[in-house]
Amino acid sequence: MSDCAPTIMWFRDDLRLADNSALCDATSRGPVVCLYVHDPAFPLGGAEKWWLHGALSALDHDLRAQGGQLCIMAGDTHESVSWLVGQVSARAVVWNRRYGPHGRQVDAEIKATLKARGIDACSHPGNMLHEPWQVRTRQGTPFRVFTPWWRAMQAKGPPLPPLPAPDRPAFAVVPSVVRDRLVTPGDLGLLPVRPDWAQGLRAQWQPGEGAAHARLDAFIAEQVHGYSTQRELPAQPATSGLSPSLRFGHVSSRQIWHAVDATGQGDQDIACFLSEVGWRDFAHATLFDFPDLGTRNLRPEYDAMPWRHDPAALRAWQMGKTGYPIIDAGMRELWHTGWMHNRVRMVVASFLTKHLLLDWRVGAAWFADTLVDADAASNPFNWQWVAGCGLDAAPYFRIFNPVSQGEKFDPAGEYVRQWLPEIAHLSDKHIHAPWKAGSSAPRGYPAPIVDLAGARARALAAWKTL
Ligand SMILES: Cc1cc2nc3c(=O)[nH]c(=O)nc-3n(C[C@H](O)[C@H](O)[C@H](O)COP(=O)(O)OP(=O)(O)OC[C@H]3O[C@@H](n4cnc5c(N)ncnc54)[C@H](O)[C@@H]3O)c2cc1C
Repeated sequence: MSDCAPTIMWFRDDLRLADNSALCDATSRGPVVCLYVHDPAFPLGGAEKWWLHGALSALDHDLRAQGGQLCIMAGDTHESVSWLVGQVSARAVVWNRRYGPHGRQVDAEIKATLKARGIDACSHPGNMLHEPWQVRTRQGTPFRVFTPWWRAMQAKGPPLPPLPAPDRPAFAVVPSVVRDRLVTPGDLGLLPVRPDWAQGLRAQWQPGEGAAHARLDAFIAEQVHGYSTQRELPAQPATSGLSPSLRFGHVSSRQIWHAVDATGQGDQDIACFLSEVGWRDFAHATLFDFPDLGTRNLRPEYDAMPWRHDPAALRAWQMGKTGYPIIDAGMRELWHTGWMHNRVRMVVASFLTKHLLLDWRVGAAWFADTLVDADAASNPFNWQWVAGCGLDAAPYFRIFNPVSQGEKFDPAGEYVRQWLPEIAHLSDKHIHAPWKAGSSAPRGYPAPIVDLAGARARALAAWKTL
């Protein structure tokens, strides 16, 4: 193999140049070919597809600014990587790890194939603060509760300092036979057409590494101080909005950690924010240790839960037409922007799994299709947490009342009025319970689809049968 044989940098959920350990490795070996494979065996939700289109375009743009390009291939992952290795006579393929079961299996198979062909295959730590297997109980088992896990995590010391983007990397010439097989983000059909439902996403988000860092800088300058007191209020722009950038790896959790930690160690707001970033790691570590997190109850007793089948109620929940303003505002925010505030996510998930007694997997599937930050670890982890069947979960009998949750976290009704203009005229007293408004009750807004007290009793009765 010639000394100038290229290394393939295989991008996946790490669409960035800075703090990209595999990319640094690849560029240190000589000329590089940058690859992304779009494989239907790794299905994406509609909102994720929209984001991915922008993310691939942004990465290609950033690579071209350095004299390279992103080679995008469509098809089976294993076949695509193997074919490209042969066509460019690659000496090595490098990537950053992913922690879901399907990705790990595919990566292991590809590694074995490459090694059998005498090609170096090298994986690097993925987008976590520490690798999942590095944080263990004294017995060497996975933690099942967040607080001791977080303590053990912090005892390991800060995550590795972020790496700079490679300085003037060398890019290999891409042969014409390869160029003929490459596709553009536009060819992948990721953007919605007829109807184009993405106006709200375009108005709110800009995929890409540059935009993610601008958001992080703005969060540190304007919002992190006050985070611990404001973050539960959905009407306040108090949280970072970094979740889709973390999902697609425009920014690493290590970069966030060091940037935020440097602004004031020991500060309550910073500690609170970093522990939220910690929940993301805990969710990913859980997926690593419990690969069927997305499909099976982590507490098997919940397998006997008598979930209901009620397509009309599910549709009302999805469309934000339940008659409960905090639920409907959240579901409409999700539909319009591809994102929902964390407190409201908890309340709508509780409403679905408890008041409507519908299976958490049905709700997680809707979130997976509509969230720009839809994440194979954080989404099912949090659904299982709310539904009571997950690790360190909220007990099932803790049932959020959507009226009192609205009154507590949106006391002036600003959030609800933003997303439900048809009830914006109601007084603060009735904004979270429009059916009590008598003659001024809005005509175009639905009556509640369930009676809260009856639905709560039904949920508790179902849970007691377990
Ligand atoms: C039912 C349900 C489903 C969810 N599905 C997802 C999902 O698919 N993808 C996703 O990224 N988050 C999910 N979350 C967690 C959380 O709601 C979002 O991460 C958060 O709202 C993102 O907004 P932010 O970036 O402004 O958060 P910030 O408050 O700024 O927090 C910073 C980062 O910490 C992480 N984080 C915060 N809270 C959590 C949490 N509870 N679990 C895991 N990570 C957390 C996120 O990466 C977030 O970007 C879900 C929560 C619930 C209750």
